[in-house]
Amino acid sequence: MAETPLAGRHALITGGGTGIGAAAAERLSAAGAKLSLLGRRLEPLQAVAEAHGGIAIGCDVTDSGQIGKAFDEARTLNGPIDLLIVNAGIAESAPFHKMTRESWDRIIGTNLTAAFSCSQAAIGDLLKSDNGRLVYIASVASLRGVPYASHYAASKHGLLGLMRSLAAEYAKTNLTVNAVCPGYVDTPMTDQSVARVSQITGRDEAQARSAITNMNASGRLVDPAAIGNIVAMLCLPLSRDINGAAITIDGGTSA
Ligand code: NDP
Repeated sequence: MAETPLAGRHALITGGGTGIGAAAAERLSAAGAKLSLLGRRLEPLQAVAEAHGGIAIGCDVTDSGQIGKAFDEARTLNGPIDLLIVNAGIAESAPFHKMTRESWDRIIGTNLTAAFSCSQAAIGDLLKSDNGRLVYIASVASLRGVPYASHYAASKHGLLGLMRSLAAEYAKTNLTVNAVCPGYVDTPMTDQSVARVSQITGRDEAQARSAITNMNASGRLVDPAAIGNIVAMLCLPLSRDINGAAITIDGGTSA
């Protein structure tokens, strides 16, 4: 196989400055892809761009006007989008009876509605590409209920519905649409979950981290590089018949 099987392909990654997005950037760049990295904070995006190449573009994906401008800027600099990695996401927690409408809207807006907006902003390019790829970073919360995070689980279940529908709708084209469903990954989002558990339960940080880590059947956090690796694999031309798949990477939690 060619050492850089994605040479010349333009990969746009939302949330590309940290965690899973940064890991996907690293793997896609190693495979030869040109990167456009989007997020609200420029600093982490620029750090990833310096390390792995590519351009950093400030964009809040909950604002469709900003998406339009950012995707146009990405196209101007890197050409039409071949590979779209919809990764930006947020997590919050609350018992359902105390969950606010604002929190519900924030989670659904960032994790699901923004996925719709980004997918629509790129779909014309993706369908023209000879190997278009749309990859959603979903979650094991796409596959089962999550106490105290019903909004997050609902948003991630919705993402799988979107993925499967687009995979079916475009099955006869050169575009594939898939999702990766990680368990708890060693990223800033999990650090925030640890801090929340610690604050709510009064446990110290080590105990809170251990409680979260043990929610993965493996008893360890998933390495973000493992997610980046699968994302890059899904983007290979050879993966053209992987379509509509939800790939769990969770150390056996869903077994
Ligand atoms: P991070 O918090 O490191 O990454 C989230 C990224 O999304 C950040 O780079 C953030 O950048 C970006 N982002 C958030 N909101 C917006 C917004 N409105 N507009 C643009 N960018 C935004 O955590 P992870 O890497 O873990 O998360 C990546 C994805 O993986 C998420 O969708 C998450 O739900 C999913 N996931 C994570 C798991 C885990 O255990 N960590 C498990 C399963 C799924 P900025 O703040 O600069 O905008």
